[in-house]
Amino acid sequence: MDTIAKLTAGNLRYRETVDRVRLLETAENGQHPCAIVVCCSDSRVIPEEIFSAGLGDLFVIRVAGNVLDRHQLGSIEYAAAHLGCSLIVMLGHTGCGAVAAALSGHAEGYVAYIIEDIDEAIGNVRDPDEACRLNVLHGVQRIRKDFAAHPSIAGIDVQGAVYDIRTGGVEWLAPGE
Ligand SMILES: [Zn+2]
Repeated sequence: MDTIAKLTAGNLRYRETVDRVRLLETAENGQHPCAIVVCCSDSRVIPEEIFSAGLGDLFVIRVAGNVLDRHQLGSIEYAAAHLGCSLIVMLGHTGCGAVAAALSGHAEGYVAYIIEDIDEAIGNVRDPDEACRLNVLHGVQRIRKDFAAHPSIAGIDVQGAVYDIRTGGVEWLAPGE
């Protein structure tokens, strides 16, 4: 089966099993996600599954290495100011390829932009797990700083967390960590 056929078959199964009431409810009444989750694009890190969430529950921003640039910040701003989210989560994960690339010092093309941000976050740290946490906390601080004076976002809680790809567990990082 080629990849498009595989995806098409997957969509058919989704349409057979999706909660149709919830589908129409969110289509007609709009989305009211409880949280914004910024996380890596890694295929093993799926916020809706990790948090047992469903349609309309999470506003998810995925980018390799869970880095923040203007597009991600714009997405956060939109969701926080207009959709009523009460929490922003920066979710890193163990075994992150983007963090590993930053640690190895090798990056080409557009990937270099991602690595540049991670380098800034981790400094001289060389332990992958510590680097992952620093990258998450760097994002948390960036969100807090950039929206510190925003009338409708400044009061929203921003939390860092790390997802363990071996256990499926999420560890919440202490604010000052
Ligand atoms: Zn990753």
